[in-house]
Amino acid sequence: MNKIMNKKNKIKTLLKFLKERYGYPEFSKDPFKLLITTILSQRTKDENTYRASKNLFSVVSTLRDIIKLPRKKLEELIKPSGMYRQKAERIVKVCKILIKKYGGKVPQTRSELMDLPGVGYKTADIVLSYGFGVPTIAVDTHVNRISKRIGLVRKEADVEEVRKTLESLVFGKDRFLINVGLIRFGQEICRPVRPKCSECPIKNICDSYNNF
Ligand code: SF4
Repeated sequence: MNKIMNKKNKIKTLLKFLKERYGYPEFSKDPFKLLITTILSQRTKDENTYRASKNLFSVVSTLRDIIKLPRKKLEELIKPSGMYRQKAERIVKVCKILIKKYGGKVPQTRSELMDLPGVGYKTADIVLSYGFGVPTIAVDTHVNRISKRIGLVRKEADVEEVRKTLESLVFGKDRFLINVGLIRFGQEICRPVRPKCSECPIKNICDSYNNF
């Protein structure tokens, strides 16, 4: 069996597993909150992002609210996410650009999103996928790690190569299964450190498990 067939079989098994375990996600996320939360998530753990985001959105509900907040207060609210001074600066800049250039709305194209300060491939794809329902694969730390462990993507691939490779294997709404399912799978089983391989339901397709 050649490598392409191998990958196709792996994807088939993976998608079946993610669909049965987690199902297709619902998209009711507010693109603005999602954008700010994704900026907060940079270089921190999921639980820290969650705390910072919860703090912030318990006090503000629009980007204008964020601009009105005293800087110290904003920093204090997002402190759990780490690098809070830089993130506060970035968030305020993003909010000002959204108001000035996009009438207070979040733009819906990858290039416009990536023109915003601190917004790279990952953030843009998360906003497009979860916020606007665009079927693109958002390569976060879980998607990146797990796709390499399974052997769908070469280990040296950068985030953009991971996205392109996965998008050559997964199509349409199944891309949402990858985005949401792999994050949950990465939190529950295929954890960054000490993955629970012995109880993993897809260990039969995993290169990392089968090569050691
Ligand atoms: S076998 Fe281990 S490394 Fe492979 S996908 Fe499962 S948990 Fe992750």
